[in-house]
Amino acid sequence: MSQRKLFVTTALPYANGHFHIGHIMEYIQADTWVRAQRMQGHQVNFVGADDAHGAPIMIAAEKAGKTPQQFVADIAAGRQQYLEGFHIAFDNWSNTDSPENHELSKQIYLDLKAAGFIETRTIEQFFDPEKNMFLPDRFIKGECPRCHAKDQYGDNCESCGAVYAPTELIQPFSALSGAKPVLKTSEHFFFKLSDPRAVAFLTEWTQNGQHVQPEVAAKIKEWFGTRTNPDGSTSTGLDDWDISRDAPYFGIEIPDAPGKYFYVWLDAPVGYLASLKNLLNQRGEDYDAYMADPALEQYHFIGKDIITFHTLFWPAMLKFSGRKTPTKICVHGFMTVNNGEKMSKSRGTGLDPLKYLALKMNPEWLRYYLGAKLNGKNEDIDFNAEDFMLRVNADLIGKYVNIASRAAGFIAKRFAGKLGAVAEDGQALLAALRTQKDTIVAAYEARDTARAARDIMLLCDKVNSYVDANKPWELAKQEGMDARLQDVCSTCIEAFRLLTIYLKPMLPAVAEQVEAFLKVQPLQFADAELLLGPGHAIGQYQHLMQRVVIEQLEALFEPPAAPVVEAVKPGGEEIAPTITIDDFAKIDLRIAKIVACQAVEGSTKLLQLTLDVGEGKTRNVFSGIASMYQPEQLVGKLTVVVANLAPRKMKFGLSEGMVLAASHADEKAQPGIYILEPFPGAQPGMRIH
Ligand SMILES: [Zn+2]
Repeated sequence: MSQRKLFVTTALPYANGHFHIGHIMEYIQADTWVRAQRMQGHQVNFVGADDAHGAPIMIAAEKAGKTPQQFVADIAAGRQQYLEGFHIAFDNWSNTDSPENHELSKQIYLDLKAAGFIETRTIEQFFDPEKNMFLPDRFIKGECPRCHAKDQYGDNCESCGAVYAPTELIQPFSALSGAKPVLKTSEHFFFKLSDPRAVAFLTEWTQNGQHVQPEVAAKIKEWFGTRTNPDGSTSTGLDDWDISRDAPYFGIEIPDAPGKYFYVWLDAPVGYLASLKNLLNQRGEDYDAYMADPALEQYHFIGKDIITFHTLFWPAMLKFSGRKTPTKICVHGFMTVNNGEKMSKSRGTGLDPLKYLALKMNPEWLRYYLGAKLNGKNEDIDFNAEDFMLRVNADLIGKYVNIASRAAGFIAKRFAGKLGAVAEDGQALLAALRTQKDTIVAAYEARDTARAARDIMLLCDKVNSYVDANKPWELAKQEGMDARLQDVCSTCIEAFRLLTIYLKPMLPAVAEQVEAFLKVQPLQFADAELLLGPGHAIGQYQHLMQRVVIEQLEALFEPPAAPVVEAVKPGGEEIAPTITIDDFAKIDLRIAKIVACQAVEGSTKLLQLTLDVGEGKTRNVFSGIASMYQPEQLVGKLTVVVANLAPRKMKFGLSEGMVLAASHADEKAQPGIYILEPFPGAQPGMRIH
């Protein structure tokens, strides 16, 4: 096959937070694909960048006391540890605030304008009168017009899922200042997707079976159909796309429109081209010439949440600005962890990639596990800890690494590291392995790494059966079987080399160790046709990979220790230890009427109360409330008494119960004691439950 020329990207992460496992999954998928291409001798430029613009970053930077540029640079500085950690080898990492992106975005816009695809319109939008800015939908909150849940965002309700316009919210307020937003008119710029040329192009482009997966094409088709608008009217085809935002905005200023900026989603995908241009500039290569090559293929790896931007807006922007349109948009689903919550762009929980690396867990376990799950379709996958351990240990250790560890020792000890010939019964084995090459390469091409992993493990099984049938450990003990032992072990090493070629896109670091051990140049798919051959000296076998142990997974998913907070002491003391309802039921609390009350001679603290607890007789109770109440204030009032407290003999007489009263634990700091009084209607003797 002739050499392909490929330009490959992953979705640009929004630069307001660190990578979560969803990003890492996408990068591993794309990186594996790119490595498989390179192993076929194809030329690839693989680039990423930070998505730097937009209101959320502007606002987050302001909160952090930084310029947006500094804020984005600080986030970018943290990217490399993830990428290196998981062997994700981008050729370049830039950001959308780069000079290349400013220049390209403006040029694409001007080209679209010249082609008649830009229109201005006056729209009404919510404006924060305190912050003096138009509010993005996510910064307007209010009551959901459908289910009346409070505190919902301007674009949709998290409680009932309704989608609406911010103007429909009940009692809207600005999430930035709390102010009531006002409606204000502004001139906005629109990309005319409703233009018949755009509709015709996108219908063909999305439905011709060449650029998106069938399940994605079916989804897109729905958007061209008839739909109901929030106001009840219906429309068909595509809506024009609002591509401008008003100052203050962190973004790219629209040419000849001071105070107007490109909406972040206009310049974000242009960032793919800008990062490529930045890379080619560094190498002294010509960007325009590179892009002008009709053979150049352009691949974008994205998640299913951003299909609209990449299958409608982006191809249309490129097409009608006179540029090359993407070859393929490769859509993947979301990743869940332990059947848990969805890994969305904004919410990353569950599997912390940095914690994974910090625990010294092997990054290639994850690369292989995700590879074995991803099948090239727009489907969600689940990371399951138990499944992960079983899969990695059974496949990589039990089936693959095991082959080398069973054969290499004999070659080193008995034959000075020199390989023999392939045993006669080994020829068929190697042939069986080679025949699978095209199928495995095709599986990588289709991003069906699940299929590739399955096929490769079946081949591992074949090789292990060969080892079991020939038992090199027994040959080693038999007289006169040296040549046979050498040939059997050499067959295993030759087979192991083939398997390593097949696994290399998923396991690049292991492959590198194997290349050193076998003393060979970096392995390519074409090398599957070759043999190391008799007399080839291999190096010392070093163990290639450890098993996953359960303790690592337990540590990985152990929730972070709860932050130590100074215990709040309500009323000056901690809440008492928990009791059961049965414990509580032992205390018989009753409504009591204070029928008489008097001071206690010889005590400044006590009052003597005569209580009617509905028993047909009264009780005598002493209570330490003299500092707060005059006896006459209390007569005739209802209060609460502990009716089954053992009577207590006091200096002034017998106390037959205890009146409930509230006080602070530190009487000196916060003096005062307050007796309880029930709501009207309670009668003496009623029990309190
Ligand atoms: Zn709702």
